[in-house]
Amino acid sequence: MAKETSFDTAELLLFMGPPGAGKGTQAKLLCEARGLEQLSTGDMLRSHVSEGTELGKKAKAIMDAGELVSDDVIIAMVQAKLEEMQPVRVLFDGFPRTTAQAEALDELLAEASLKIDSVILLEVNEDELVERLLQRAQEQGRDDDTEEVIRNRMKVFHTQTAPLIDYYGQKEDGIKAVDGMGDVAAVSERIAKVLS
Ligand code: AMP
Repeated sequence: MAKETSFDTAELLLFMGPPGAGKGTQAKLLCEARGLEQLSTGDMLRSHVSEGTELGKKAKAIMDAGELVSDDVIIAMVQAKLEEMQPVRVLFDGFPRTTAQAEALDELLAEASLKIDSVILLEVNEDELVERLLQRAQEQGRDDDTEEVIRNRMKVFHTQTAPLIDYYGQKEDGIKAVDGMGDVAAVSERIAKVLS
């Protein structure tokens, strides 16, 4: 039976997965279905870049190279966003990406007596990932979707973000792995199932 979702109580979900796994697309759908706000650190950074803020100017070169923006900057950005949310109904997309970010998030949530309800890992094989990202490059023209940068972002994912699979896997509620192959509707059905 589907879990009842009340939109006036806290709910925190976290999406993990390599670049190109479909996190952004699935996050949008899930947010609509559950009345959550999508907190994408990548989107927040891109807004800074397009608005030409100081943070945006510093972040652009790092993003264009497929490297990670510093933990301090990211954590401060997320903290500010969470503080203005009442109730906290959020889906983290592309955050945390390092162990330091995950630990900082745990601390922030503990201070507010909150916890992550579910961590969802979208799994897609590597050939499909590169193909999807190259296609997105054609459609959206993102500066960080060239083949060289895509390969670096994969490497960064494997070295800096993948350890979080264990980090969350060892927690009491664990991690929910979802097959991210196939069309958008099929994947979102699988996600809804693991959350029910
Ligand atoms: P995304 O849209 O999530 O793929 O993010 C695009 C780029 O923004 C990444 O390649 C990083 O350079 C930067 N970025 C986004 N989220 C984070 C994060 N949580 N920590 C560090 N850098 C990030």
